[in-house]
Amino acid sequence: MNSLSEKHLLTIIKKSGIGILILDKNLNIVLANSWFIRSSGFKEKDLVGASFSSVFPELINTRTFKSVELCLEYSQYSILTHTLNPFPFPLYDNEKNREIGNRIYQYLHIIPISIEGETDPFCMIQISDVSQQVVREKLLREKMTLANQREVEAQKASQAKTDFLASMSHEIRTPLNAILGMTDTLNETDLTEEQQEYLTVLRNSGKALFNIINDILDLSRIESGKLEMEHIHFSIRDLMSETVSLFYMKAKAKGINLHFHIGDEISESIAGDSTRLQQVLINLLSNAMKFTEKGEIFVSTLLCENKKNIKISVEDTGIGIPSEKLNSIFESFTQVDSSTTRKYGGTGLGLTITKKLIQLMGGEISVDSHVGTGSKFSFEIPYEGFIKRNSGIHQHWLNLELPNPENFPNCNILLAEDSEENIFIIKTFFRKYPIHISIAYNGKEALAKFKTQKFDIILMDMQMPEMDGLEATREIRKIEVANQIRASDSIPIIAISANVQKEDISKSFLAGITSYLPKPVRKQEILKLMYFYLAM
Ligand code: ADP
Repeated sequence: MNSLSEKHLLTIIKKSGIGILILDKNLNIVLANSWFIRSSGFKEKDLVGASFSSVFPELINTRTFKSVELCLEYSQYSILTHTLNPFPFPLYDNEKNREIGNRIYQYLHIIPISIEGETDPFCMIQISDVSQQVVREKLLREKMTLANQREVEAQKASQAKTDFLASMSHEIRTPLNAILGMTDTLNETDLTEEQQEYLTVLRNSGKALFNIINDILDLSRIESGKLEMEHIHFSIRDLMSETVSLFYMKAKAKGINLHFHIGDEISESIAGDSTRLQQVLINLLSNAMKFTEKGEIFVSTLLCENKKNIKISVEDTGIGIPSEKLNSIFESFTQVDSSTTRKYGGTGLGLTITKKLIQLMGGEISVDSHVGTGSKFSFEIPYEGFIKRNSGIHQHWLNLELPNPENFPNCNILLAEDSEENIFIIKTFFRKYPIHISIAYNGKEALAKFKTQKFDIILMDMQMPEMDGLEATREIRKIEVANQIRASDSIPIIAISANVQKEDISKSFLAGITSYLPKPVRKQEILKLMYFYLAM
């Protein structure tokens, strides 16, 4: 068959899967197909021949009606989507929906039809049922809104958790600072052996609590994406010897041979976040030390073949880890077995933090371990090496040998601190030293004293009433600039703060502090740092 008869065409239109309504130029209905008749609920005879406005009075003056008029008058083609058209035809896909007034969502094409040789045009309205699509869209939108809400709620909760932990850790650190400080001071008094032992327990427990607080705070900051990595130049050799030396005493006491090696091909100075790298090393070394009773612990740092990474490994001859546990030890609060806490202590957070820190540095950690033989934790991080520096010049202040108190430089210190307890602790630290301390209870007092007296160093607590340490530091630096004091002659300001978050530290440096000591301040640290500036 090469052509369709009129009857064929009419049947095709009538049986079409979309709704079709054809109007003549007087807006009378000339054709309604089966879909339209069925959905409208009218009989064919009620529709065909009747005027559009009498069958659908509710559509008069609506967008649909106007589009039909424009179609017949100006042969204008229109599309009315369900979102653009608030007045769809009263069409329903079943009786129930008709009763409750649930109309079919409609997508209308209003098409002018001109017939060859005739002047009067027709208007064909094609109606597609887009209900399913609309329902799907609606569901999707609802899901997206819900997902967004959940994300916002999760972010809020995570933020609240981080803020809570930060302020809680600050609150805990401050009294803990006093406890640890006092144990140092008490240690210098005449104690019986028994008292010494009690004090050691007190001190170790305090330190353990301090480490746990730091771990929890770190983890929450990493998880909330708040921990940014620094990119500074530092000496990997200094960092390594400083970190490993922290464990020499313990290794000696346990009879373990602790040593490290750094490949000659690695530059003196490399770029990265030295504080975080040290934290990773301390975590791995503490574990190695904790789980090794005899043999050796070896830390090696080598340049990878690609020369783009360095590989650091901490290897021990300790108890080892069963192979089925090798993956889970990197998860939070996971230990190889529950007796670990009883026997060795720890929270199971160390490796989680270590892994996340290494990932933030752009690296990955892996472990190779055999029960009874030992473990080897290795990680590769990007390497950026710089020209070798003259190694004689630099000495880290922590490596300084403190002179005997009587040989310590005579000096005038301004201590800006509002807490009587902290003042007391620092005073007891300096008891035997020729250090004269002047106290300012807030930033304003510190500023006033700085203007009228001469000091060698300012110890500045960052959180003080009236004027905080940041503002006082800024003001002091302004005065120095106004008096044309050279940077090299400006007064060292050592910030002391319980806020160890990176943003707080960088804010303090921006304000003009010279150095930073986190609370709890240790006697040796503060004295060495002061000695570093006084002896320079
Ligand atoms: P913890 O604070 O318990 O040490 P970590 O996350 O650092 O937490 O370590 C999780 C667990 O992995 C440890 O409890 C221990 O069972 C195991 N582990 C870690 N390092 C070693 C190691 N060097 N030798 C043996 N077991 C280890």
